[in-house]
Amino acid sequence: MQETPFKVVVDHFIQMEDTTKRTELTSILAHLFNSVKPSEIDKVIYLTQGKIYPDYIGVELGVAEKTIIRALSKYSGLSEEKIEDEYKKLGDLGDVAKNVVQNKKQMTFFAQQLTINRVYGVLEKIAKTSGKGSQDMKLAYFMSLLNDAEPDEAKYLVKIVLGTLRLGVADYTVLDALALAYAGSKDWREILEKAYNLSGDLGLVASTLALKGIDEVKKIGIKVGRPIRPMLAERVPTAKEALEYMKNGCIAEYKYDGERVQVHKSGNTVVLYSRRLENITMHYPDIIELALKNIKANEAIVEGEAVAVDPDTGEFYPFQELMHRRRKYGIEEAMKMYPVTLFLFDIMYADGSQLVDLPLTERRKILWDTVKKDERVQFATHIESTDPKEIENFMDQAITDGCEGLVLKDPASIYRAGARGFSWIKLKRDYQGELADTLDLVVVGAFYGRGRRAGTYGTLLAAVYDKDSDSFYTVTKIGAGFTDEDLKNFPKLLEPYKIPHRHARVISKMDADVWFEPRIVIEVQAQEITLSPIHTAAFGLIKEGAGLALRFPRFTGKIRDDKGPEDATTVTELIEMYRNQKKKALTNGTNP
Ligand code: AMP
Repeated sequence: MQETPFKVVVDHFIQMEDTTKRTELTSILAHLFNSVKPSEIDKVIYLTQGKIYPDYIGVELGVAEKTIIRALSKYSGLSEEKIEDEYKKLGDLGDVAKNVVQNKKQMTFFAQQLTINRVYGVLEKIAKTSGKGSQDMKLAYFMSLLNDAEPDEAKYLVKIVLGTLRLGVADYTVLDALALAYAGSKDWREILEKAYNLSGDLGLVASTLALKGIDEVKKIGIKVGRPIRPMLAERVPTAKEALEYMKNGCIAEYKYDGERVQVHKSGNTVVLYSRRLENITMHYPDIIELALKNIKANEAIVEGEAVAVDPDTGEFYPFQELMHRRRKYGIEEAMKMYPVTLFLFDIMYADGSQLVDLPLTERRKILWDTVKKDERVQFATHIESTDPKEIENFMDQAITDGCEGLVLKDPASIYRAGARGFSWIKLKRDYQGELADTLDLVVVGAFYGRGRRAGTYGTLLAAVYDKDSDSFYTVTKIGAGFTDEDLKNFPKLLEPYKIPHRHARVISKMDADVWFEPRIVIEVQAQEITLSPIHTAAFGLIKEGAGLALRFPRFTGKIRDDKGPEDATTVTELIEMYRNQKKKALTNGTNP
């Protein structure tokens, strides 16, 4: 069979960019899957998400804007200044590329049609070129594609290499589309999701399905070196309510306020993954050393929270200090100033055995046997108790010790990768005169400021996440809590996610001045949750014609780079917080 032309992919991209409906997006994607060869499907999935490998591989195309400007200049014979002018006018280099190719194409005759395989192959070469002079090599590779590209192909090639392709295709949309395209029985969707949860690689799941069938997908399991999508905790307001879910007893553990780390050890090699499955090995050379020294198994996957600890006092540093580890240079100094302690709480794999389906009590025993404890590698502090009073006291202790609260766990529960459920329940601290908890909100838009904020954003439009509809619902406009530095930084931080109209997965009644792809998550503290006719979160669920909104919201200073947009506070959690606050107000005799 002949290779599929790249044009087929591009035609679908154009349709995807045109739609604002998620169901439509899914069916266009399913149609695309059906239009390519089984051996091409993984490549198509990566490209649709604007990458060439799953995130955990950590390989980037690394093409500079300037390189593309040079390529377009070379191709067209126009000066680089002229290309830059066009870029300023159109605001997108993809559109510039499209015009440039359109104008030239009328004069050329011989072009060899681009195929998916050829495009992907060249992109791989571009990604693998690094070091001195690499931009010139990358430019040459890119030109080889550009010379044979149609106008729209050129546009999307530029968007892919610059990382500005924003089709809004979330992982769940890909899974839905796969199930739709290969339409087996209803439980296929679940099987696909499970394979994805254990492998963290949509391309692998898709190509296994397309080439070998669903029975092989069922066999996709855990492999050291490939991140597992983390199990997540539900939230309830009180220990008493949490205990109602704990039918098999309860293990209460400290909830450390650090960075979640999945440690993969194989022989002398250690790889670390974040909660969002990024490869963060580079940030924690100290954890590598600790893992090699303390993990007794030859092969293992363990999970815990890395917390920065003051070497002088043993006190925990606030979460922000860990962010010093997220930079490229100066890790050595950060390591000295903010050494981490690893608090382990789970094990998923050890020497050939997949452990996720064992009950928590057994996994913990294996964890304790597999890892040697010392000052810097510890097991999460815990008690076993079903007495709400005792748990509340333990919670106070956790907070005094610098933790965020507790995670209550069902001792009989399995490790459900990628799932948020009630076998893990988080209890967080109760601030006086404030909402019991902060919210993690996704920035979806902005409004221009006035006065001191003229020329920058005055307020940000922020949203909560709803898993069922896989959409983001607005809950507040936030302008307080930003330092002068924040005000300077936010436009820069948000610039790469600017889009010309409301994102397909954002549900808003407000018309923001600027829209963003839902990507950046910020932590927000508020005084109260109120009913509001203008925000769409939980709209009509509590009261007809009203959604939920925040009163006196304030940015806490934390940008949650460790959370993806789908990890933000959910509509369900927001409703829970609203109900809880109402209950409290009633017992205090005040009107909510
Ligand atoms: P949240 O980020 O508010 O959704 O809370 C869940 C997070 O708490 C997890 O992703 C972990 O990073 C963190 N955490 C801290 N201590 C524990 C623990 N003992 N068990 C599970 N998760 C923990």
